[in-house]
Order: sequence, then C-alpha cells, then structure tokens
Amino acid sequence: MRTLPLVLALLAGCSTSAPALTADGSPPPALPSSAAPRAAAASPSPSAADSCPTANAQPDPLRPRLSARVSIANGVVTGSEQIAFTPDRSISEVVLRLWAAAPRPAASGSRIEVSGTKVDGVAVTARRSSATVLRLPASVAAGRTVRVDVSFRLTLPTGANDRFGHRGTTAWFGSGLPLLAWERGRGWALEPPTSAFAEASTSEAMELTSLSVTRARGLGVLGPGALVSDSGTTAVFKARSVRDVAVAVGAFRAARVTASGKTVLAGVAPGLADGPPTTAAEMGRALSRHAARFGPFPYERLSVAVLPDIRGGIEYPGVILMGTGQLDDATASHEVAHEWFYGLVGDDQGRDPWLDEAFATYAEALDRGTGRSYLRTTIPAAGRGHAGEPMTFWESRQSAYFRSVYVQGAQGLLRARTAVGAAAFDRALGCHVRRNAHRITTPADLATSLRGLPAAVRELQRVGAL
Ligand SMILES: [Zn+2]
Repeated sequence: MRTLPLVLALLAGCSTSAPALTADGSPPPALPSSAAPRAAAASPSPSAADSCPTANAQPDPLRPRLSARVSIANGVVTGSEQIAFTPDRSISEVVLRLWAAAPRPAASGSRIEVSGTKVDGVAVTARRSSATVLRLPASVAAGRTVRVDVSFRLTLPTGANDRFGHRGTTAWFGSGLPLLAWERGRGWALEPPTSAFAEASTSEAMELTSLSVTRARGLGVLGPGALVSDSGTTAVFKARSVRDVAVAVGAFRAARVTASGKTVLAGVAPGLADGPPTTAAEMGRALSRHAARFGPFPYERLSVAVLPDIRGGIEYPGVILMGTGQLDDATASHEVAHEWFYGLVGDDQGRDPWLDEAFATYAEALDRGTGRSYLRTTIPAAGRGHAGEPMTFWESRQSAYFRSVYVQGAQGLLRARTAVGAAAFDRALGCHVRRNAHRITTPADLATSLRGLPAAVRELQRVGAL
C-alpha cells in the first residue's frame, strides 16, 4: 500500500494498446477465463540458490482451495466461505484472521460477525481469542485435507481511508473474508494487527475455485482472477493462485487496455473526476514495465477500482483499490509492483513489511526514474538502520514508518544494485522471483538469492534489512 504522495515527476507515455470504454455504470463485460493449467509439479527447493529457475515455481498442488459467496447491499456484506486446507504439519485448531476487526477499520465502524462454523461438515463452536483471531477446534494430521465452513456478516464503514468502505452504492473490501492464517513450515501467523495505514496479514497463495458476488442490478463488480460469468446481479470469479481477495462494486465508469498480454480493467466510482482510460493506461504502462523486469504478470488480469475516501492505494492479488488523483504520483506504479512483491513473492507483512514495501518502492523508483530522489531522502533517527523491523516496532513510530521502511529499504536495494552492477543484481532478483513464486518468503530467502553478491548483502545489512 502507499500513502504520502511525493512530489515527483510523472513519466509520460504509455506502452499499452488503446483503451476501449464500456458504457457508464454497466457491469464489466465477461472475459474468457485465462487461468493456466493446474500445477503439475512441485517447485524447486528454495535451497537450490545456485540454480536459477527459467520459469516461475508452480503454485503448490496442495495449496488451500477457497470458494465463497458474498452479497453486498447498503454497506453490508453477507457471505459464506468454504476452505479446503491440507496442513503440512499436524494441527489441533484452524485459525482464521478477521482483519475487518483490526483497530484501524474498527475505529471507523467496520465490524465482522461470524456464525455457522463447521469443520468437515460438523458444527463447531469457534472461539474469538482476540478481535482478529478466530479459532476453530480441528484435529488434523499433516497431509490430510480438512474442510472449514464459515458464514459472516461484514459491516463496511463510510469515510474511512481504508480497505473497507462504502459510500452510496459504491462498496469495497479487501481482506474481508475470514482469512486462513497458515504459513507452511511455520504454523499459524498470529502477528497482532496494526493501527497504521499498513498491513499485518499473512496468507498462503490459494486457489480461488469460485467467488460469487451478488449486488444490485446496474452496478459493476471488480474482483480477482478471471470473470467466469455475470448475470447482471451475480458475478462469478475464479483465480489460480491468490493469497487474499478484494472486491469493489459500484456504478463504475470503466475502461480497459491490454498490457503484456493481460487485460487491465479500471473502474472509477461516481463523483470522482479520474479518467477511466487514463487510469487503465497508466496501470497498464506500469504493468508492462514491471513485467519486463520481474517476469510475467502473475494473475489472470488486473482490476483497478478508483474509490472515494481512500488516499493512496492498497494492493491485492489481481485487484488494486486506489484513491482519486493518484496518477500524478508514484502510487499507481507502486501498487502494480506489489503484484510481484507481496502478491507473487509473498511475505509475512506483520513480521517483514520491508519485503513487500521496500521492493515495491524500489520497483517504482526504477520504473519512474526517481531513485536519486529516494537516495537523497533523510531517514528519521527513529528508524535509521531498522528497515527490517516488524509492524510491532512501527506501532509507536508511525510517523517514521514510510521513510524508514519504504524509502530506507529501497535505498538499500538501489545501493545494492549499484554496488554489484545492474545486470548482476537484476539477474539475481529475477531468479529470486522465479524461485519463490507463490510462496511466503523471509529475509533469509533473499539472502540466499543474493549469496553470490556479498556487496549487495552488505548494503541491505547497513539499513537493517538483512
Ligand atoms: Zn506498498
């Protein structure tokens, strides 16, 4: 995500095809599913740092499978979801995170209640051990698949600069579905939420087998993955490998472009002056630039919702929620870069926020030629040398967070690239992305990918990232 726009020059030009407007307020036309075939092979071992994969690692064939139905009306989302989960170690409970109840959205009136919890079809009593942690008893051996059912009612606030909101007939949410909080090789991700404009969530990439979104006739829907069907009141999406879900509905003015072979769809909510073709073109331009550097865009398509009340942007796999007037700063390029860093190459955003925020800032700086400006930025004393700290560290230092993590981390990456040469650094990062596609990475995984480039590692150590 990104806020605090910097005054930086806007790169002109667009490498995408001409935009095609759709009718105002109409639902986005259905697109044929471009989902790739299911994973057939296991990924290479992350320890195989010396061999550089020639293509992205495949999603785990045993990744969680999610199907969900939501109905959105009057700022309330009623829904249900079913998760098929195959843990890689034995468990005695299933933990779902309820991010709609985190302090920041809750302070604006966001609420989520759950009911109808079942494990393998049997009703169970769930325990909410904190606002954002829901625990379901479930004794499951490693390698066995367990089915979890949850119904929920999510109340969206109005006027919040956040991933949850509604205004008039426009409504949106990200991390609104109870989110399976498993990290393979580690266990449940129980990091506390943050009160900052930031994320603390962690989730493995999952197959979205079906997401059904029902809304009033006449409203459009932007959602993850491919749009399978749309009756005009119910749209169905599916996605091969996404780690979370965001949805926006509204009487959008819409436009689309094709960039690097992918559809980029932009919808602008009523009352906002942003041009849909301009928005789609800038997002598509950034997509092509990042794809040239980090590999193919990892999702079926990119949907961008320009929404009221948000100041900045918030990334989800295949979906970006963005405020008005963001094309004049780095937000567009930054959020698109997150599709690779956070989306494709995941991280625990509570534990290692720099792994997605510094990388998105670095990618955006390369795209827009703003590296020198970032390198000149003074890092606050509270954060100097602490780029790698978790969100709990920044909770009491929120004014230093952006410069200390986004900018300082990007400074480390930019200096690392200079230290070892752009070609070697870009090659190593390309291998890193392909090796860790659809995974949750740690700083140690990055250090492994940079093992042959000690001068780069030193630069990242200097800023406290490694
Ligand atoms: Zn960001």
